[in-house]
Amino acid sequence: DAARVRFSQRNARSQSLHQTALSSLPGGNTRSILHTSPFPISLRSGHAHTVTSEDGHTYVDLVAEMTAGLYGHSHPLLISTIKNTLDEVGLNLGGTIEQEAVLAKAICERFDLDTVRLANSGTEGNLHALGAARKFQEGRGKGRKVVVFEGGYHGGVLHFPAGKGQAENNVDRDDFIITPFNDISALEQVLEENGDDVAAVLMEPMLSAGGCIPGTRNFLRSVRRLTREKDILLILDEVVTSRLTPGGLGREHGLEPDLKTMGKWLGGGLAFGCFGGRSDIMSVYDPRTSGALSHSGTFNNNTLAMRAGHTGLTKVFTPEACVNLNNLGDSLRTNLTVATRSQESHGMCWTGHGSVLGLHFYKEQPYGKDGKGENGFEYRTEEDEVWKELFWLEMMEEGFWLARRGLVALVLDTPTEEVDRFVAAVKGF
Ligand code: PLP
Repeated sequence: DAARVRFSQRNARSQSLHQTALSSLPGGNTRSILHTSPFPISLRSGHAHTVTSEDGHTYVDLVAEMTAGLYGHSHPLLISTIKNTLDEVGLNLGGTIEQEAVLAKAICERFDLDTVRLANSGTEGNLHALGAARKFQEGRGKGRKVVVFEGGYHGGVLHFPAGKGQAENNVDRDDFIITPFNDISALEQVLEENGDDVAAVLMEPMLSAGGCIPGTRNFLRSVRRLTREKDILLILDEVVTSRLTPGGLGREHGLEPDLKTMGKWLGGGLAFGCFGGRSDIMSVYDPRTSGALSHSGTFNNNTLAMRAGHTGLTKVFTPEACVNLNNLGDSLRTNLTVATRSQESHGMCWTGHGSVLGLHFYKEQPYGKDGKGENGFEYRTEEDEVWKELFWLEMMEEGFWLARRGLVALVLDTPTEEVDRFVAAVKGF
């Protein structure tokens, strides 16, 4: 309670802005994930690896716009690309532009895709990938069902929260079968029971919103083997995990999915999404073919994201920069684990991969080493929630901008002193 009182006292302007927002936005909110009780902090500006609130506090950004903001807030190359595009090209042109194919080629090369289509969000990427998979499989006598995993998040309309056994806000619930993550025998059974009704499996190689739980190598590779055996398409959602190794986390496990979806940082800090993979599947969107599916979107080839995305991918987040950032994340995870090992009052464990970390107030890693799914999602206990809130309130006072749910994502060029200061603050919690 004392921490909540201090929160309200330190952030009076945010509180008053929230009051104003309530009159025109339901709950004063337009991005569910950003709502925090009693009110969210309003941010005024960002610079490099920091953000500053309307209340005048500057924080080290450890949210990185839910992983999309890996470039930070004022990367000079991205800012100059965006300014030059405005000066030389202008806003959207309403026609095909050279730059869309330039960006597409760079994405295909980096992520092993035959062809790719561009969109405005990861959600759209996933929805269109499902469309492609269903259409392709329809011609081969398969049904429309898609297998997804508990805790999976593929966008606001494709969310399968753990413990609920059903989709949330889903466009069409009956089309999805939900099975536990990291549990290959459960998947085997689902595929056995549903046979040809299943068109595709949609999977994150690491549950991201679901708590940064990496799929075990054995599980991920078994999913690929099973789907191949049964002629079911594997769609790998790399919207978050594409930043974790130069070619995405799936490549590290040798997965070779049929389709991949990505987004977030790939737009160079601007709204973006994409989906791509095997050209025989992607050709369901080839407008030269009769009966092709339509994939439209006014801003799919918008001038700013095409250029900023390309600069970011080829000049800023190069394979080398990617490896360095993820090494920093791995050593942060190790240091946090060591620093919090001796905490008596509460268990604390750090999950994730590379530069994206998950915090759980749980003594053992959710999902044991053998990937059988023991411990399941128990980390979402009431106790875990209470500790997470207290942790969040205290870390904000220490000057760290954190996601309330316990996600830490690193921004490029965050000084190591700040990363070390975070470890020290966590140790003192
Ligand atoms: N897929 C994953 C794994 C995500 O984490 C997200 C967003 O957090 C999405 C898809 C949806 O992306 P967007 O928010 O750009 O629609």
